[in-house]
Amino acid sequence: MLTLIAQNSFIHLDVGLYRNLFESSSKGMMITNADNEIIHVNHSFTRITGYDASEVIMLNPRVLSSGRHDANFYRCLWEQLRLRGCWEGEIWDKRKNGEIFPSWQTVDALKNPEGRITHYLSVFSDIMPLKTTENELWKLAHHDGLTGLLNRRALEQRLDAEISAARRSGRNGILIFLDLDDFKKINDTLGHKAGDRLLVEVSRRLGQYLRKEDVFARLSGDEFVIMLTDLSASLDGTALAAAGVIRNMLQILATPFVIDGQALNISASFGVTFFHPFADTAEEALKQADTAMYLSKKHGKNTYTFYHPAMQEAADLRLYFETELRNAVHADQITLVYQPQYDQHQQLLGYEALARWNHPEKGEIMPSDFIAMAEETGIIIEMGEKILSIACAQMAEWQRGGATVPMLSINVSPTQFNHHNFVDRVLAIFKATEIDPAKITLEVTENLIISNVDEVIDKMNALKTWGVRFAIDDFGTGYSSLAYLKKLPIDQLKIDRSFIKDIVNNNNDAVIVNTILSMAEHLRMEIIAEGVENQAQNDHLIKSGCKGFQGYWLCPPLHGYEVFQSGFC
Ligand code: C2E
Ligand code: MG
Ligand code: MG
Repeated sequence: MLTLIAQNSFIHLDVGLYRNLFESSSKGMMITNADNEIIHVNHSFTRITGYDASEVIMLNPRVLSSGRHDANFYRCLWEQLRLRGCWEGEIWDKRKNGEIFPSWQTVDALKNPEGRITHYLSVFSDIMPLKTTENELWKLAHHDGLTGLLNRRALEQRLDAEISAARRSGRNGILIFLDLDDFKKINDTLGHKAGDRLLVEVSRRLGQYLRKEDVFARLSGDEFVIMLTDLSASLDGTALAAAGVIRNMLQILATPFVIDGQALNISASFGVTFFHPFADTAEEALKQADTAMYLSKKHGKNTYTFYHPAMQEAADLRLYFETELRNAVHADQITLVYQPQYDQHQQLLGYEALARWNHPEKGEIMPSDFIAMAEETGIIIEMGEKILSIACAQMAEWQRGGATVPMLSINVSPTQFNHHNFVDRVLAIFKATEIDPAKITLEVTENLIISNVDEVIDKMNALKTWGVRFAIDDFGTGYSSLAYLKKLPIDQLKIDRSFIKDIVNNNNDAVIVNTILSMAEHLRMEIIAEGVENQAQNDHLIKSGCKGFQGYWLCPPLHGYEVFQSGFC
């Protein structure tokens, strides 16, 4: 093999000497031919990579690839080899035992006298030990010695990088300044060692709570900083998320700390700012959060303050509403109204139950202003159950009172449907109210079908054995795939009102509605067109073959007692 190199290359070395140099070098060496197949490796290659020569001869050096570099990295390497005849740099390779290691490599393209590349010679050394020292040094320079958290310098670097990243992505980022209340007293009375132990414990507890992607740093003394990245794009949503995280941290800190056998009750003051979009530099963001933290101290400690008053308001309002909404379910403030659905001859098909929140001070609140919050907070589980109970009790009352209500549709949110005992709870309500399950349609949205399709089908089938029917609400606005839809035991599609709104003038909407109508016919599903607001829409739908209608033009939602008054609409 070596003779081959000596002959084909313009380096005319004595073969024996060459072999000696090659084999005894402490550097790993590998020679490949012009097709980049390995034709020779030395002892150090075997020592570093774990591969014997016989295992790699005629293989592509790719066998060592760690997968850490992308195609662009190799493209640049080859480009340089072609243009300059050599390349030098750091490459992460993989040993035979699977371990990834950094190596410093030079690659030379060897040419024959005619200038044609005949071989490539790679010389490399394992720089893992160097890296380890480098890492340790980096750690020392960027971490706080006491708690192991990032230090101020590292935080500022991260913060600057995150500010740039957030500017590109448009997603908000939050910076939280935390300062323990009366920490000086602890130091003064129990000594600095106890103070240090408390700081370590605080960082451990909060570190356990925070997500892996959050940044947690100690600036100095009892000052910590938490950075939350990649939050929602809405300012209110971000403020709320930050307030939620801080409330949890306040609670975590409220559990006494046992230091040297002594239980210590501590608290902290927090200051919050948006490093995106309200700060241009790390320094500015830190200053804002620090200022806000001082306001918390001024307001009596153990609390949080947003640098921007509007964000504080949004978070406070949201907190107020969340508490009120939780209370609403128990205080019977959630009631239902019922909107009739008709066929093409204006014969009653049934009613849809729609929730209303009757707030003692704010009056009637529409579902668009509270259902999403109920979903996010999980309140929907209890609220949804209450809604099902009220609707079924109303159905029973209509039956007892002699009102003919062929069908009652009830909206069910995805969180509610996905709750593990949903089926049992629904059946229990049917039983308690003694209503016929075959007269109930549960309306779900397409988004329910995105995940856990098999589980959704199982639950639907379990309820279908009792005669319950299912409708897909707001059809056409979600992300469901038609393939999934076909698999589900769905009885009815409700065409979203956004397609009905301009059906008379907008040809695209008319085409979409026609497509949904023909699809429903083929899949043997009933159709209800939602939001029919005028005669023109109604006539257009009838002409298109639609057989189910719901909307203000036909009848607005009614109170339960109004349903007894026949001919109301
Ligand atoms: P949805 O299930 O699609 O209900 C139909 C909505 O359209 C109702 O709004 C109804 O009042 C409104 N609507 C009816 N006819 C017309 C019309 O001609 N024009 C227009 N522009 N709108 C019409 P509502 O009551 O405000 O409910 C809004 C949404 O809130 C519902 O949409 C449903 O997604 C959700 N929702 C309502 N009640 C409940 C509930 O009990 N549980 C759950 N999970 N969601 C509910
Ligand atoms: Mg609905
Ligand atoms: Mg709808």
